[in-house]
Amino acid sequence: MMKAVSIHFKIRLGYIALETYRILWDLIRVSFIEIMNQINDAYEEIRNTAAFQDELNDLYANYVGRPSPIYHAKNISKKLGGAQIYLKREDLNHTGAHKINHCIGEALLAKHMGKTKVLAETGAGQHGVALATACALVGIDCEIHMGEIDIKKEHPNVTKMKILGCKIVPVSRGTKTLKDAVDSAFEEYLKDPVTTIYAIGSVVGPHPFPKMVRDFQSVVGKEARAQFLETHNKLPDIVMACVGGGSNAIGLFTEFLPDDAVELVGVEPAGKGLDTPDHAATLTLGTKGAIHGFKCYNLQDNEGNPLPVYSIASGLDYPGVGPQHCLLKDLGRVRYESVDDKECLNAFMELSRVEGIIPALESAHAVAYAMKIAPEMGSDKTILINLSGRGDKDADFVAQTLSL
Ligand SMILES: *Cc1c(COP(=O)(O)O)cnc(C)c1O
Repeated sequence: MMKAVSIHFKIRLGYIALETYRILWDLIRVSFIEIMNQINDAYEEIRNTAAFQDELNDLYANYVGRPSPIYHAKNISKKLGGAQIYLKREDLNHTGAHKINHCIGEALLAKHMGKTKVLAETGAGQHGVALATACALVGIDCEIHMGEIDIKKEHPNVTKMKILGCKIVPVSRGTKTLKDAVDSAFEEYLKDPVTTIYAIGSVVGPHPFPKMVRDFQSVVGKEARAQFLETHNKLPDIVMACVGGGSNAIGLFTEFLPDDAVELVGVEPAGKGLDTPDHAATLTLGTKGAIHGFKCYNLQDNEGNPLPVYSIASGLDYPGVGPQHCLLKDLGRVRYESVDDKECLNAFMELSRVEGIIPALESAHAVAYAMKIAPEMGSDKTILINLSGRGDKDADFVAQTLSL
């Protein structure tokens, strides 16, 4: 009898414990969508406050070095004998590319939300270095997940991240490159979405990331449109940028979207050729699908798994692309073209030797497409290119490839 009561009591206790645990778990467990909604709410609340805007604009001006100038590339324009080419010099920003624009925004947002750590992945290390820089500046911990293969390949960027005080987590699973670094960083984030925040590297990922990164990058187009109007009294005929995830392109395009007369062109990497598997021309050849928590045109196999993509510019080799670019393609507002590795290398060398500007291989894609179409245009026509970054990081590789 005693024994039976005792067992009953124990079962009862166990049940209560289980119930309590379940209720607690339900309280603690926040669904993925809720977590994203919380980030969105915080962002919407903070973005237009004077405190946030003043701090952001002050850092853009005095830390990044904004506004970046627009340079009339007269030599190359003359040599091509057609349209006049203008460069929005994002390569002159602190850290040498446009990525610092959204990294500072994301780090500031993290601080204003009271987060203690920023998490992210990096492929070639460009996003990692820009984010580690922004986190050092804002005074917040930074943890970057990076594939073991990329760690070996991109040693200078790994060293920079270490110097900047960021923790690097090597990712040894799967491809040991970007795709698995994204999964690893996101899993780490979901373990503690309350005190940490994820900082994505382009206008990709689940809502609200594409919107936030677009907003932070749109400073590029705002400046460029005003600068061009000021010096020319008209807008450029064509506005052009390379497209990987799509952040530097959307940053430049956004302010020009209502200007119907301005043609917008995004340039994708055709790699070793669109007729080979070695390219990353997502909008040109992709089909509708999903990747990393968002829907977009995708380079995927029949089961919907992302294909291994390739570009000579590691910042462009992503099998997906920002959802807004997909919409702009469907609407026909932006035209998406592609250039291959050879054309990219040629533009890289041409801009270096004719203008004394060494571009990032990513940016050289946009320059290459401009070089293709400028000769067919009148010399009264203008092309504005987003020179998204400088080519220091690519110099050794190009010299080796071309046996210089
Ligand atoms: C990362 C990178 C890119 C590609 O990213 P987007 O999000 O497509 O802009 C382009 N240019 C440079 C210099 C980069 O570092």
